[in-house]
Amino acid sequence: MKQQSHKKSYHPPKVGMRIIKTALAVLVTLLIIDFLLGRLILGRDWAGSLNITIFAIISTVITMQSSVKETVKAARERIIGTLIGVVIGLAFLALAVLMFDTTPETVAVLVFYALLTIGTLLVIYLCKVIKFAIVSSLCVVVFISVMYAVNSNTPLVDAIWRVLGTIVGAIIAIVINAVVFPPKINEENIMSDTYAYKFEDNLYLNITNRCSNDCTFCVRQGGSFGGQSLWLKTEPTTAQVIEAIKTFDPDSYNQIVFCGYGESTYRMDCMVEVGKWIKDNLGKTVRLNTNGLGNLINGRDILPELKGAVDSISVSLNQYNASKYEEVSKSVYGESAFDEVLDFAKKSKDAGFDTQMSIVACIPKEDIAECYIVCDKLGMPLRVRGQM
Ligand code: SF4
Repeated sequence: MKQQSHKKSYHPPKVGMRIIKTALAVLVTLLIIDFLLGRLILGRDWAGSLNITIFAIISTVITMQSSVKETVKAARERIIGTLIGVVIGLAFLALAVLMFDTTPETVAVLVFYALLTIGTLLVIYLCKVIKFAIVSSLCVVVFISVMYAVNSNTPLVDAIWRVLGTIVGAIIAIVINAVVFPPKINEENIMSDTYAYKFEDNLYLNITNRCSNDCTFCVRQGGSFGGQSLWLKTEPTTAQVIEAIKTFDPDSYNQIVFCGYGESTYRMDCMVEVGKWIKDNLGKTVRLNTNGLGNLINGRDILPELKGAVDSISVSLNQYNASKYEEVSKSVYGESAFDEVLDFAKKSKDAGFDTQMSIVACIPKEDIAECYIVCDKLGMPLRVRGQM
C-alpha cells in the first residue's frame, strides 16, 4: 500500500541516469539503424530508412524506464500494442483500399471514417478483453497511423518497418539500461529485513511482499522507497515485528501504520497480534492502509478480527469505476475487485472503524473529481496522495 509522498520544498530536478540513458539510447539507435544499417549497409536510398529510424527512436524513448525490469515490461507492452494496432490496421486498410477502388470518392471517404471509428472501438475493446487496457491508447495511435497509409503504395512494407523499428528501439533501451550504469537492484541488495521504518511522523510496518494487485503507480515497481529497500527476504514473525517496533522511540512518531511493499491483510494473524500488542503496550493508534481486498484474499469477513487491533482503515479506491480501476490496479480479481473495494469500505465504516478512501494523484483531474463523487455517495472522506 506504499504510495504516498509529500513535497515540502522545491529543489530543482537533477539530471538523472534515466535522462542520460535515454539520450544515449537515442544516439545508439541513430548510429545502428540510420548510420550503420541505412547508410553504410543498405545505402542512402533505402526506402525504409526514415520509417524504421523514427519508429525505433520513439520506441527507445518511450520504453526506457528507471529499472531494467520496468524497461522490459514497457518494451513488452509497446511491442504487443504495436502488433495489435498494425494487424487490425492492415485488415481495415485492405477494406478501405477496396472501397476507394470500387466506389465514388465521397462514398469511400465516408466509409473510411466509419472504418476508423469502428476500428478504434474494436482495438480498445480487444485490449480490454486480453487485459491489456493499459496500452489501448498506443494501439489506437498505431491503428490510425496504419490506416492513414491508405495513399501509400507500400502500406504492408511501412507496417513491417514500424514493427521492426519498435522492436529494435525497445531492445536498444533494454540493453542500454542493463549495461550502462545498471540500476543497483539485484536479488542481493534489494532484499532486506526492514520490518519497521519511519516516514514523516508515523511508524510504518512492513510485514509482507505479497499483493493481489500490480498497481501502475506502486513504488514496488521502482525497487526502493526513499532509498531503502522494503523487499523482504522472508516474512517476519509477530515477535520480529514487535522487536523492530521496540527499536524506535515511541515519542518519535504519532501512529503506527501497517503499510509496506505488500497488502498487510495477507498476514491477518501477524497483523492482529501486533496490533493488539501495540494497543496494550504503547497505546498508539493503529491504521491499516489496504487495497480493500482482504475479504477476497482471506475468503472471509476479516473486519471482526481487526477489532481491538486497528483503529482506522484507509482503503485505496484508485479509480471511480470498475474498468478504470482495473487499468491502474491490475488486480488478480479483475474488474470485480472494484465493487469489493467499495463493499469493504462500507463494511469497515459500519463496523465502527475510522474509514477513509484514498487515490494517488497520478490519474486525470476529471477522474479525481469522479472519485470524490463516489466517496460522497458512500459518505466517506477521500484523501488524494502524491505519487512517489
Ligand atoms: S495494492 Fe499492492 S500493488 Fe497496489 S499500491 Fe498497494 S502494495 Fe502496491
